[in-house]
Amino acid sequence: MLFERIAIVDENFDYQEDMYVGISGNLITYISKEAPSDALREHYYQTYDGKGKVLMPGFVNAHGHSPMSLMRGYGENLPLQRWLNELVFPFEDQLDGEAVYNGTLLSMAESIRYGITSTSDMYFWVDDMVRAITTSGAKANIARAVTHFGGDVYQLPSFIEQRDSILMYHGFDEGRILIDASVHAEYTNSDESVKAVVEQCRDHDLIMHIHLSETENEVNECIERRGGKTPVEYFDSLGLFDGPVLAAHSVWLTDNDYQILKSKNVTVASNPISNLKLVSGICDVKKLMDNGIRVAIGTDSSTSNNSLDFFEEIKTFALLAKLKSGDPAFMTPKQALYAATRAGALAQGRKTSGLIKEGYRADLIVVDTDVPNMQPSHNMLNNLVYSACGKDVCLTMVDGRVLYQDGEYKTIDIEKVMYDTNAAKDRILAKL
Ligand SMILES: [Zn+2]
Repeated sequence: MLFERIAIVDENFDYQEDMYVGISGNLITYISKEAPSDALREHYYQTYDGKGKVLMPGFVNAHGHSPMSLMRGYGENLPLQRWLNELVFPFEDQLDGEAVYNGTLLSMAESIRYGITSTSDMYFWVDDMVRAITTSGAKANIARAVTHFGGDVYQLPSFIEQRDSILMYHGFDEGRILIDASVHAEYTNSDESVKAVVEQCRDHDLIMHIHLSETENEVNECIERRGGKTPVEYFDSLGLFDGPVLAAHSVWLTDNDYQILKSKNVTVASNPISNLKLVSGICDVKKLMDNGIRVAIGTDSSTSNNSLDFFEEIKTFALLAKLKSGDPAFMTPKQALYAATRAGALAQGRKTSGLIKEGYRADLIVVDTDVPNMQPSHNMLNNLVYSACGKDVCLTMVDGRVLYQDGEYKTIDIEKVMYDTNAAKDRILAKL
């Protein structure tokens, strides 16, 4: 495909108008102000009129739980522990593979609609998640999180499923599916399980995806339980940060925690809307960035968000960063868009994704700017961060393949997915 006379967010996150961008196979192969030669144009065989559109890297949702779309809007306005114990956990006990498949596929449909091309996903029933994500054509790093409350770690269903998922699916679907290792959180694990997962992570050269210091309570209880150590210090003492780590939340950090995250090159996945909804607190993104810590953006689940509209997430991320820092000049739109795209791709170990650059993967979206909420434009990057909404996305491409365009899904039977997901929800509720 050849995008003609289209505005782009370039590899430096500068805005450029009237560009030509060519896609061959799964790669970006041409970027220029000049139109390609006639011979080359023929090679691209299909053209896209870029008038009134912006081409930008696809969003990377750096922390999600896709099957939880089944519980969207289920049990609102309850304190966290009551919501989990009385509603979420009993519902999850009744899940089956079909429900997980449909919930994941619904989340993929919503993600693709809103410009998310890859997700760092943490849940269980990995076979069914993989089946749904490969059907959609999107990318995902999937983590089967381990929890341990007693017994032999190596016999835990969560540990066994994590090991099997690594062996079966790491690099699956031409690399679109990657498997991450995962310790669910400090409060759901023991020294033995953390050590076992760290070992498994190193053996297979994987990324570690964890929940970290999400609530004040979690940190205080950890300090009591782990001999005065914060969750960051505790994980550090067990070597968890000695390889690449994606740490969701990281809201409640001490000065020493920041130093550890910085020295170990940890990426933080900030989940601003989920943190607001669950009243977890506000991540200090400025302090993270001032310390040189990479920050990506996640939605968390549709149960605690309740949307995968990534433009909502970016705007909330930037607004909360301003509020927390007390500095309205922080952050630039470039920083916000980088966090939404390239930072997430790097956190997933997808080094040649997340930028519009020749030789990089064609994981791209087109945003319609010929709509009232995007006009006029003094600075289109500002409009992308603060004025755009998910429904302005008019094309989503992953590895050069168009998955969504102008209201039409190319890989997903959307009516069937919505019907089947509702049927799964009703089937589960009937058992409760
Ligand atoms: Zn989470």
